[in-house]
Amino acid sequence: MTGHTELAKRFGTPSYVYDLDRVAKARDDLFAALPDEVELFYAAKANPHPEILREMRAGDGRVCRAEISSTGELTAVLQAGFDGADVLYTGPGKTEEELTEALTQGVRLFSVESLGDLRRIGETAVRLGVTADCLLRVNNATGAAVTSIRMTGVPSQFGFDSETLPALAPELRDVPGTAIAGLHFFPLSNAKDEASLIAEFRHTIATAAALQKQLGVPFRLVDIGGGFAAPYAVRGERPVYTDLRDNLAAALDEHFPGWREGAPRIACESGRYLVSGSGTLLIGVVNVKESRGRRFLILDGGINTFGGMSGLGRIMPVSVEPDEARGEAGVPASLVGPLCTPGDVLGRDVALPDIAPGDVLTIPNAGSYGPTASLLMFLGRPAPAELVVRGEELVSVSRIQHIRTYEHGQAL
Ligand SMILES: *Cc1c(COP(=O)(O)O)cnc(C)c1O
Repeated sequence: MTGHTELAKRFGTPSYVYDLDRVAKARDDLFAALPDEVELFYAAKANPHPEILREMRAGDGRVCRAEISSTGELTAVLQAGFDGADVLYTGPGKTEEELTEALTQGVRLFSVESLGDLRRIGETAVRLGVTADCLLRVNNATGAAVTSIRMTGVPSQFGFDSETLPALAPELRDVPGTAIAGLHFFPLSNAKDEASLIAEFRHTIATAAALQKQLGVPFRLVDIGGGFAAPYAVRGERPVYTDLRDNLAAALDEHFPGWREGAPRIACESGRYLVSGSGTLLIGVVNVKESRGRRFLILDGGINTFGGMSGLGRIMPVSVEPDEARGEAGVPASLVGPLCTPGDVLGRDVALPDIAPGDVLTIPNAGSYGPTASLLMFLGRPAPAELVVRGEELVSVSRIQHIRTYEHGQAL
């Protein structure tokens, strides 16, 4: 793609390119796949770039709320035009400082992982003279969908175990400074296919309805989670869900007859679906070498630029393409980064045509879990440039920078 070649020449590599038109399309597609009444939280951790965050609020149609988990993400979403009231604050380790900041900035909706978490939120809310609406996060004993990233049904730092939650009801209802507003589920990421996604949502909705009866609290909001899929660092298109809307509505009609009137309101969450396809990583080839019969392409960015989550075994291998078509795929090669660790691998046995130092490779579907999910500081290279485009128009060029600050005068 000539556009990418020009951008790589002008701004160097490694560089991310995010296309806001593609973000808008994904946002509109996902809203269209959900019943009109369903709200959508954008998980800021997928890509907290300011212009991407702003795009979640843009357009003429429905706009996203924000799901965040730190003071840094709170600042980012507020600066991008979200209001404190648009925010859902999640995470297993919310500190008093973070809670104070969030409540002071107008955040009133929290996902709660345990009784201790609820009490800490309550204490902070009481001190500030406000009430925090709390969604009890549920670690469901069972699931339905096929996925590589499941987080429920096993011991976990996330959520209340569904089987013991009802017994806690009297204590949960009684925490000053808090009100139980409903439930929060996030059982999986990246569901295998639409049938899996629908099965999981049906299961979640049935569980939520059963828990409402057992807890004896009328819910105002049920966040049924996500699992919306997108290719990550490999070629392909994100799915467009055609049956989800009707199936969700039918399951909600069955279990929460008042949902269309907002009793309870229903919400979903998504990160990767909304942003993965908007991004391309341009990465330069520094060196090519052979060792004991294996070919290595040494790139100017590795797990400090992308795939810092590879240590979790989540994402490899990437697929890459040279930026110009250049004949047949040749000898398979290992794609490695510049870091002084054998763990700096972006892909193994990747078949590419003849590649020479100075070439630029592109990694597709790299708009989620990019720079901020990488080992940015390891070995001290600059963060990649992040170029934002809207179609053919270049909107902004930026780069994350780390600065060490000293507290002068502090004796050791
Ligand atoms: C990470 C996360 C998401 C986003 O997950 P995707 O797979 O990127 O859609 C949504 N909700 C919660 C609670 C999360 O932790």
